[in-house]
Amino acid sequence: MSILVVGSVAFDALQTPFGKVDRCIGGSATYFSVAASFFTDVSIVAVVGDDFTDEDASVFKGRKINTDGLQRVPGEKTFFWSGEYGYDLNVAKTRDTQLNVFADFKPQLTEEQRNTDVLFLANIQPELQLDVLRQTKRPRIVALDTMNLWISIAKEALERVFREVDLIIINEAEVRQFTNEANLIKGARQILDLGPSTLIIKRGEYGVIMVTKDAIFAAPAYPLETVFDPTGAGDTFAGGFLGYLASRSEIHDRELRRAIIFGSVLASFTVEKFSLDRLREISLADVHERYQDFRALTHFDDFDR
Ligand code: AMP
Repeated sequence: MSILVVGSVAFDALQTPFGKVDRCIGGSATYFSVAASFFTDVSIVAVVGDDFTDEDASVFKGRKINTDGLQRVPGEKTFFWSGEYGYDLNVAKTRDTQLNVFADFKPQLTEEQRNTDVLFLANIQPELQLDVLRQTKRPRIVALDTMNLWISIAKEALERVFREVDLIIINEAEVRQFTNEANLIKGARQILDLGPSTLIIKRGEYGVIMVTKDAIFAAPAYPLETVFDPTGAGDTFAGGFLGYLASRSEIHDRELRRAIIFGSVLASFTVEKFSLDRLREISLADVHERYQDFRALTHFDDFDR
């Protein structure tokens, strides 16, 4: 199954305790599509300005990524995000968000895009997520990501999208912010009551918890010694997770668990360098190798009674 993703393609300015960069490629749809393309075909729906050069667009080249839906608006500027992290890399502080081209973006999906099997609503304004969702013809899987900004300024629209998706992938602080519930599992139940069948809670360096109506699965993050820049880890996780699922003929609990590990593996590469630099240099063989390391990391035997 192929995936259609709507989300941001961005220029980021980043500062971490280990370095600083004034302009690099980022965006939720960018990280997502590069990660997902390790496993399946992805079509991207997004917009950039004319400051986004062919060299910048080369991040999508040579991969299973269809960029026909990536519009370029003359005379306008690409979405810009500036973020900063202290030693607690789980907490991103937004210094600046400039929607630029995204302020009036109203994509018209083609017939082929409307018929997508899998739709990923990557982090962007909830109104835009809803607009794209409404144009599609009920995909088999609809998944969503968001961020604290939209919970603060567009909660109603976001709740409308939550009600129409199968799977939500958000971080733990966002679960608490959205539900006003301190306990994560209780918060997860509140979100599942809105309609989705699966909630995946990202917990940064502590890993991931998946909550469904009748099961809970938890995975650690890969224990790296060098974490350089956490930007894009969440979107990369979502790309690896959904890309793997879309490549399978059947989706059941075992596949969901494998998908979580593939998402975690890809995210662990993203954080090793700025931007998509690390993701761009690895191969599927590297991904498979780290998947095996993950298995060894989390394996334990039953005890003798
Ligand atoms: P994450 O995976 O959560 O670290 O996402 C990082 C990416 O999200 C960055 O590359 C930003 O360009 C992008 N981003 C930040 N804020 C927003 C926003 N309000 N809407 C869409 N994308 C954003």
